[in-house]
Amino acid sequence: DGKTDSYEVEHRIRCKDGSYKWICSRGKVISRDPDGRALRMMGTTTDISTLRAMSERLKRTADLVVNLTDAVPGLVFQCRPVPEGGSWFSYVSAGIWDMFELTADDVRASTTAIEQRIHPDDLPAYRASLQAAAAAQMPWHLEFRVCLPLQGVRWRQGDASPRRDADNSVVWHGFVTDITDRKRVELELRELAATDALTLLPNRRHFMTGICAELTRIKARGGLGSAVLMCDLDHFKHINDTWGHAIGDGVLQHFANMLRAQLREIDLVGRIGGEEFAVVLPDTDFERAHVFARNVQRRIADTPYSTGGRPIPLTVSIGISALHNNDDNAGLALSRSDRALYYAKQRGRNRIESVFSR
Ligand code: GH3
Ligand code: MG
Ligand code: MG
Repeated sequence: DGKTDSYEVEHRIRCKDGSYKWICSRGKVISRDPDGRALRMMGTTTDISTLRAMSERLKRTADLVVNLTDAVPGLVFQCRPVPEGGSWFSYVSAGIWDMFELTADDVRASTTAIEQRIHPDDLPAYRASLQAAAAAQMPWHLEFRVCLPLQGVRWRQGDASPRRDADNSVVWHGFVTDITDRKRVELELRELAATDALTLLPNRRHFMTGICAELTRIKARGGLGSAVLMCDLDHFKHINDTWGHAIGDGVLQHFANMLRAQLREIDLVGRIGGEEFAVVLPDTDFERAHVFARNVQRRIADTPYSTGGRPIPLTVSIGISALHNNDDNAGLALSRSDRALYYAKQRGRNRIESVFSR
């Protein structure tokens, strides 16, 4: 009808044996009558059965990849470098939404949309790890946080491996998974391992880590120094013997709560023995440490633990010393405080003593 220059159509023809072949027919009109009606056509007829079969197979393979990767929890990706620098995602599975609340289109051109989702505190490590992996051509592995509009802060784990492409460029294949639950359990376990079960104060090991860090800080910065207090409940065995172990536990909890309530954010505390508690007061001189210790004694005297309406009188002996910037280790300050505590016990208990010397 003269509406197009030529035609091209793929269709099947039936062979003598009843089977079908895929054919591509192409052609054009090469002469027309004075009214423009077609008189003669010329064209080709090509058997494209093999081509069709191959493209079907390719499509099935591609579908398989997409279906498989979409079914995997998390994101499966292929990432390619851009000659001008940077990179882009040549493939992302549907998990791009769950992992980053982004669409495939958001990350097609470049990976910067991803960077905007990384937690600001983790972004330097994220960039550095990618750079290091790219430079060394070694597998990439990182645990990092993302800040997502709908899900909020979540933990992600990324893994990828480099592979040289035919054109010698490096292609990365990898995946990103949700590790938020695992991270939460890890954190709970870490806290559990660092906490004394009865008083919920940091345990001895955790306290020692804290005081060692404090010594490092003092060495680096100098300044006023930190006070180290050792508190030991007086005649505690007698409380146990008189009231029973369970009440003794209640008294320990009561003392711990009272101590905790008196601390600043920067102070350290730990239950370092049965009825022994240590406190580190950063940037605190002896005088202010004494005031703190007196307050501890006063509070426990004013608000004793009570059971069945009956108060259980409790006193505490406290030894004070300081963490020096020339101490070889934090244990030295603790043994000085222990010595001061020993004097407090020796001189009658419910006392505060200090040891100034190294
Ligand atoms: P001092 O004034 O010399 O410190 O005497 P004390 O009786 O307080 O000290 P001692 O070291 O003789 O006894 C401490 C007691 O604390 C002995 C122990 O049974 C008790 N104790 C240790 N841990 C716990 C605990 O978790 N719960 C209870 N109820 N008692 C504990
Ligand atoms: Mg003791
Ligand atoms: Mg005691």
